[in-house]
Amino acid sequence: MPTSSSGPVAPAEAASAGAGPALPAGIVVAVDGPSGSGKSSVSRAAARALGVAFLDTGAMYRAVTWSALRAGVDLADADAVAAHVRAVALSVGTDPQAPAIAVVGADGTEQDVSEQVRGADVTAAVSAVAAVPAVRSDLVLRQRALIESACAAPAPGARPGVVAEGRDITTVVAPEAHVRVLLTADERVRLARRAQQDLGAADAAAVEAVRRSVSERDRVDARTTAFTTAADGVVTLDSTHLDFDGTVAALLELVRGAAGAGA
Ligand code: C5P
Repeated sequence: MPTSSSGPVAPAEAASAGAGPALPAGIVVAVDGPSGSGKSSVSRAAARALGVAFLDTGAMYRAVTWSALRAGVDLADADAVAAHVRAVALSVGTDPQAPAIAVVGADGTEQDVSEQVRGADVTAAVSAVAAVPAVRSDLVLRQRALIESACAAPAPGARPGVVAEGRDITTVVAPEAHVRVLLTADERVRLARRAQQDLGAADAAAVEAVRRSVSERDRVDARTTAFTTAADGVVTLDSTHLDFDGTVAALLELVRGAAGAGA
């Protein structure tokens, strides 16, 4: 299992996030949560503070969905979707300063699709693609390889380790991660955050506008992955009453706690 640390854990310098116990080299922090929980931005900020890689697994599901839509694949045909996804090469940037995702063409050229994958068409279709078991097993293997590489061969200047976020990181992709967190917030708060992020406002009309897509996506995703309740050993971090910086600080505190307990 790529995410488990076997053998002695090499000492690392204290995290740049502040004083506290030294982080184990190759620390894996797994964060799951529903949409609008802030898991992406919070995980990215935590990765930056810790000086480790950041893996946005949702971006991978989005990129293969973008590719399938562009190729005109019938998303109701699970075999066709799985075959298409198997053939899609992704280049996943894990630098928390500038995470990016690209689709690699047959000639090796990379097309950066970081913006396209946030489009409404991809958001509306991604849950159907993510529900295909063969797509999941394919992407889970790629995600484990990325986690392993972030720990074994970090980018220049980065510490070995990764903060990986998604829907099934704590349970399927990296169940042996040193730190496993389910990031939640009341639905009302999540909708307001998503409205602010997508529409630049969080008034009643903006919240109503995002409600349908957010709630529907969570409902469909919940049939595929268990991200609404914490699995055994997973710590729930409720950010309902925390602002962004407070949530990042709480996550870093959990990381330091795990390091102090000899993660
Ligand atoms: O996190 P984000 O909203 O970008 O995820 C997009 C979609 O990818 C989710 O709605 C879900 O369908 C899928 N996903 C998943 N498992 C993950 C991450 C994302 O099924 N680990």
